[in-house]
Amino acid sequence: MKEDKTFVVIDKNDSITPSKVSAGIINPVTGRRMVRVWLAEEVLAFAHEAYKEIGKFLDIISISQKNLIDFFPNVHQRQVFLERIDEGENYLQSYPEQNQFNEFFNYALGCGEIRGCYVVQLQNLLLAWRQHLQKHGRLHEETFEFEDLVINKESIQHHDIHAEKIIFCDGLSTFQNSFFKQLPFAPNKGEALIVEIPNLPGHYIYKKGFVLAPLEEGNLFWFGSNYQWDFPHPNPTGEFYEQAQTHLQAWLRLPFEVLEHRAAIRPATLERRPFVGLHPQQKNLGILNGMGTKGCSLAPWFANELVQNLVYNKEINPHADVNRFQKILSS
Ligand SMILES: Cc1cc2nc3c(=O)[nH]c(=O)nc-3n(C[C@H](O)[C@H](O)[C@H](O)COP(=O)(O)OP(=O)(O)OC[C@H]3O[C@@H](n4cnc5c(N)ncnc54)[C@H](O)[C@@H]3O)c2cc1C
Repeated sequence: MKEDKTFVVIDKNDSITPSKVSAGIINPVTGRRMVRVWLAEEVLAFAHEAYKEIGKFLDIISISQKNLIDFFPNVHQRQVFLERIDEGENYLQSYPEQNQFNEFFNYALGCGEIRGCYVVQLQNLLLAWRQHLQKHGRLHEETFEFEDLVINKESIQHHDIHAEKIIFCDGLSTFQNSFFKQLPFAPNKGEALIVEIPNLPGHYIYKKGFVLAPLEEGNLFWFGSNYQWDFPHPNPTGEFYEQAQTHLQAWLRLPFEVLEHRAAIRPATLERRPFVGLHPQQKNLGILNGMGTKGCSLAPWFANELVQNLVYNKEINPHADVNRFQKILSS
């Protein structure tokens, strides 16, 4: 839209998608070793600006800056955290007021603070953007049927839509798409609870193994998640519910009520890098997918790279460019 191109979005408005189940957290450090996320400097600043801009455009709050209080789950994790501070990681700070959270949490091993985190208000954003597209006649709320796609040499057609190109940002549905299904996706299931916790301040994200992240509404928090590579079905499980509830009971000193239990499958990839760009053989088909566990930070950056590539022929980061799978996609 910013490049003044015409487009329509086909989206069946699934009620369960990873974007709707996600906590919306952007965290500059990752993993047990607490290393900086891939492309941290560029991607995080860009994402923050992009969400602010779209929030302003749609007249909603779409992102909030919230530091994360990391309650050390074991001695080793505390050690890693302190070592990373010694090495000069300035996103990490040893929290000066170690007793500040005593009335809310049990935490025998202390806590640290991760700065530069954000919560993207996905519920607001997805709804407001959908309404905007609808109002301007740019949304076809229907199921895209790959068999109905007509691919011509320089254009495509799907039902009554005629376009120069089609870009697939349809999460795991890309698996059913004969042009891109060979890509090394590695779907990863995650579950979360929505809990009501009166009197817990919502200006931080809290973490002790699991994450407790404030939602925009009053006393509601998101609590999760797990990472499952092997799963028999995509639905919420009793095992996760039990595990999460027991964990929260032991950690939290306040009463809470579980209001919802959600599960979704992350469109993750084997090498933990997204798939971005045009099909090497079929230049009118493109993809923006494989955002894995980090859709909130990676999607704005790579959506922009894709647009810059389509409009100005600029290079896509080779680690994300789908052309790295040229051989597989050409076979
Ligand atoms: C429990 C959990 C927690 C998470 N927490 C975070 C987090 O804190 N921070 C973070 O950055 N990431 C998080 N993620 C990951 C993040 O949610 C994903 O990276 C991101 O949502 C992927 O977005 P997407 O638009 O690529 O895919 P999706 O969200 O799957 O969107 C695909 C869209 O395509 C539509 N669609 C699919 N098939 C069709 C079809 N045939 N016809 C029409 N429409 C179709 C769907 O309706 C949907 O709207 C989490 C994921 C889970 C499951």
